Amino acid sequence: MTQSNHKEALHLPIFKILSEASDELGVESYVIGGFVRDYFLKRGNPKDIDIVAVGSGIELAKKVARKLPGNPKISIFKNFGTAMIRHHDLELEFVGARKESYDRNSRKPHVEDGTLQEDQERRDFTINALALSLSSENFGELLDPFNGISDLENNIIRTPLEPGITYSDDPLRMMRAIRFASQLDFIIELKSLQAITENKERIQIVSKERIVDELHKIIGSKKPSIGLSLLHKTGLLDFILPELTALQGIEEVEGQRHKDNFWHTLEVVDNIAKTTDNLWLRWAALLHDIGKAPTKKFDKKIGWTFHAHEFVGSKMVYKLFKRLRLPLNDKMKYVQKLVLMSSRPIVLAEEFATDSAVRRLIFDAGEYVDDLMTLCEADITTKNAKKRKKYKNNFKIVREKLIEVEERDHVRNFQPPISGEEIMQTFNLKPSKEIGILKAAIKEAILEGEIPNEHTAAKEFMLQKAKEIGLTPIKN
Ligand code: ATP
Ligand code: MG
Repeated sequence: MTQSNHKEALHLPIFKILSEASDELGVESYVIGGFVRDYFLKRGNPKDIDIVAVGSGIELAKKVARKLPGNPKISIFKNFGTAMIRHHDLELEFVGARKESYDRNSRKPHVEDGTLQEDQERRDFTINALALSLSSENFGELLDPFNGISDLENNIIRTPLEPGITYSDDPLRMMRAIRFASQLDFIIELKSLQAITENKERIQIVSKERIVDELHKIIGSKKPSIGLSLLHKTGLLDFILPELTALQGIEEVEGQRHKDNFWHTLEVVDNIAKTTDNLWLRWAALLHDIGKAPTKKFDKKIGWTFHAHEFVGSKMVYKLFKRLRLPLNDKMKYVQKLVLMSSRPIVLAEEFATDSAVRRLIFDAGEYVDDLMTLCEADITTKNAKKRKKYKNNFKIVREKLIEVEERDHVRNFQPPISGEEIMQTFNLKPSKEIGILKAAIKEAILEGEIPNEHTAAKEFMLQKAKEIGLTPIKN
């Protein structure tokens, strides 16, 4: 076992208080898990600190709370034998060292008191089992029974015990392994990867919420394709996002091939991760092509087609969100809208974008237009350098036009310059289809650029149009 001292990791005043409290209670205590791992990785900004007491975690928490200024509240979870104190922006989590054993059908272990070593054995990965002592006699000493430090140095995810048992006991760990690989850019040890593949079906006993938590950390990582391709490789993705695995593969008919839309999608997600941290925009990138699997057809004349895949895809988003218990609110609508519109800007970028085409894009995308552009720029994955340059450049032009047209015409949050009310008064009409016809004609004229988006011009246009359909304004 590696033994070394890392007092410098425990320089925050809270660790002194923890140390005094454990000395006074006569229990050993340790900082363990994420905080220690991230200290050695120099990741900074810890959000939670996990403390394990060889004894009662709850008693230690109570003692610590009494020593902290302002008498902070303790949340005690008696059933779990844990306690939590919020201190500044940190969450201090307390637990007694424990030994765990598992049932086949549940993630809930049978728990008994244990030693530090037993507690470290129940941890998911060697890099998450590192402990630093808080007791004054060996304050800062590292306890690393499974060579977690060497795994940290070699960027390896490895389980303390036999991986088959670790993953089968708590299948959430399969997601966590892949999530850490993606967040930290680590390699999952081969034995572990095999064990995940063998246990993939057990992911079904994990709640959707926990799966989604980990999935969000994967999607939120710097290069999400690391995690997503591991989910694919181990077969977990079939249980989580079968809509994506359905995109994998290339078919060839009469010498014509389409691209592999699964690997294309991963590239798009990596691209967008470079420009935005918006989780839902990343989701839109992940799902933008899901309609391509059910719509794929080979047409003898035009080759492979994915007719209306954007529409079909946006409908699939609802089902997918519902299945994963994701929120069915404005976030989902946002993803749906981006999927639905995901091919629009590329059409503009392929040829010269007219003002009216740009105006229509702004009108249809509304407040999402900038995010839609970001998605479409990320969608450029062609390996043909010439084409790539052309698309990028054309998108730049479209972006400039977007600003120019919006400044002039204000169609982003389009409000009709003439209200239905005004139309009714002008022609002494009751609610009727003529009003709809005139309103639509005005909107069309503005989007086409025939008239500016302002009242005087719109009124003049309306009177003209009304005449054509046989309406006369009343005199006032
Ligand atoms: P982060 O907080 O950055 O997401 P973390 O490693 O701190 O990462 P937490 O969920 O906060 O993750 O868990 C704290 C510690 O508890 C872990 O480092 C690990 O030691 C242990 N742990 C968490 N979940 C599990 C699990 N499912 N199986 C075994 N040990 C776990
Ligand atoms: Mg943590």
